[in-house]
Amino acid sequence: MITLDKTGEGGVVITKLDDLLNWARLTSLFPMGFGLACCAIEMMGAYASGYDLDRFGIIPRASPRQSDVMIVAGTVTFKMADRVRRLYEQMPEPRYVISMGSCSNCGGPYWEHGYHVVKGVDRIIPVDVYVPGCPPRPEALIGGFLRLQEIIRKETIRAPRAVQQIMAKRMNKEGMIKDESEMKNMEANRDQSEGDVRQIPIA
Ligand code: SF4
Repeated sequence: MITLDKTGEGGVVITKLDDLLNWARLTSLFPMGFGLACCAIEMMGAYASGYDLDRFGIIPRASPRQSDVMIVAGTVTFKMADRVRRLYEQMPEPRYVISMGSCSNCGGPYWEHGYHVVKGVDRIIPVDVYVPGCPPRPEALIGGFLRLQEIIRKETIRAPRAVQQIMAKRMNKEGMIKDESEMKNMEANRDQSEGDVRQIPIA
């Protein structure tokens, strides 16, 4: 790569293609602008002037097709789960997911009795970074982005991440949804559980 500085004298920078691509990616992360519940307020706080995520090159985009990061900020209900999955599928590779808050990480306050809540968004999409808290502070989300940047810094085009994920998905016998039929089974289970609730007599 040839550069020209202010004095007009040329210079040469030698680097690896991996380093160049990773540097470009990790300094221009575009998260998708959507939130699911109270954690999204903290996410918006992180975007605002007090914390100013722009200084990391992190600028929210309004379309999944222009985004490379999904921040799952809030409670993932079964009703919302297939929408979250669809938005994830609409994002181009390489794409990353930050799970923000206890609800998204494991069901949060709904983990035991929340019949309508997915007990962890990693059951429907692969998660790269988990940010704990209920809700996590904006500093914690920034910490999550810094962790994601470290992950991206180690990537290589010789072993694309998307291919590795597909291989891991095939090897993963339990825990993660593998195809559309499993998504339909989850919907059917949800309908069943809703039916059960409707059958409970109200005193
Ligand atoms: S983790 Fe806490 S703050 Fe975040 S969506 Fe769940 S209940 Fe709300």
